[in-house]
Amino acid sequence: MAHLTVDIGGRPGVDCRGFCEYCYFKHVGEVEPFGCRYCLPFKVGCDYCTRGVKEQYSGFKPLSTVADDTLAQLQMIGDDLSRITISGGGDPSCYPEFRDLVEILGSMGVPLHIGYTSGKGFDDPEIADFLVDNGLSEVSYTIFSADPERRRRYMHDPTPEASLAVMRRLCEKIDVYAAAVVIPGVNDGEDLEQTCAWLDEAGAKGLILMRFANSTDQGLILGNAPIIPGQQVESVEAFRDRVTDLNARFSLKISGTPLWDPEIGSPFAILQEPDLLARLPRVRGKASVVSGTVATPFIQQVLDACGGGCRVVPVQKEIACLITIDDLAALDLADLEEAVVLPGRSFVHDRQAAEVLGRDGTVRAVLRGPEMLTADAETSMGMRKEEVLQMELDGFAALIHLINQNG
Ligand code: SF4
Repeated sequence: MAHLTVDIGGRPGVDCRGFCEYCYFKHVGEVEPFGCRYCLPFKVGCDYCTRGVKEQYSGFKPLSTVADDTLAQLQMIGDDLSRITISGGGDPSCYPEFRDLVEILGSMGVPLHIGYTSGKGFDDPEIADFLVDNGLSEVSYTIFSADPERRRRYMHDPTPEASLAVMRRLCEKIDVYAAAVVIPGVNDGEDLEQTCAWLDEAGAKGLILMRFANSTDQGLILGNAPIIPGQQVESVEAFRDRVTDLNARFSLKISGTPLWDPEIGSPFAILQEPDLLARLPRVRGKASVVSGTVATPFIQQVLDACGGGCRVVPVQKEIACLITIDDLAALDLADLEEAVVLPGRSFVHDRQAAEVLGRDGTVRAVLRGPEMLTADAETSMGMRKEEVLQMELDGFAALIHLINQNG
């Protein structure tokens, strides 16, 4: 069963009717290429870690280009297509030929998904029926707040009433996963409760809350922190408790990132499953496993449950996937073994990492760990618990094999 992704291009902030106040792509300047898992061994920087990560496209692609790309992909896939997803750096609702695009894709008779929309480009509620008639079956839709004035003020949505009306109609007919970045003092507290109630009543499938980040250690690696100067930020723990509380009080599924999915118990749901922990290979090697501050205690617990002897070393970055070479440079090398495992998706070039981690004269083997050890809330939202646990089993088995082979 193949999935087709239709990339419409576009730039965040520019091709979505102007930057939302909280957009993580705001103020992005010139940043040196980070290096990543896709780079060639002799060159720091590839298309992904120089352009892709900044969503640095040149603008929306013309419909003719999108159609040609789609056709080329279809020829490779054959007729085993089960889903089409529209995605891009810009917002699909602002794509100038959106209706034509949806009609073309709808004519294929395959369920259509919109990977992400803010809805800012929807000015007429009627478009909801048009989308459903053309096969839209799932959408991830930013609500931010059910209060139109907050959407107008913080998302710069010129027609918030229409955007919310579209969302409500879609909720009645298809799977809608709502999303909101939670900014303390803006759309938290009573306003967030009203938003949850609005979504519950409308029939949304779920709501993903994202804790607002405002500093480099919280994950803003594009040289653009702070996004909102002076804005207060909630601690990860307080945010997790907020998610737990809201999920218990409303019937739609509410989860959060970086923590957590209360229904599944992820990230790292495997910690509550002794039988599954027992199925993982035993740790026999010695390596330092580098991670972010949020994941470190969880990964340490899993490795300890599998025999222990490996230390998980946190850098000053909350999210492991957003670790850069600066974070490695700040580590105390005396804490590190001669084999060091980096998060698979970290933005670090392996050769540079080996140089930085060998500054004390000890040659350290730099190993790249699995892409994912668990599912964040965006990943787990449409998943079953067994699927998340399988993902964690696979990820940790791969990590432990890597340690045992090299440590
Ligand atoms: S709609 Fe999304 S990409 Fe566009 S400015 Fe808002 S947060 Fe950024």
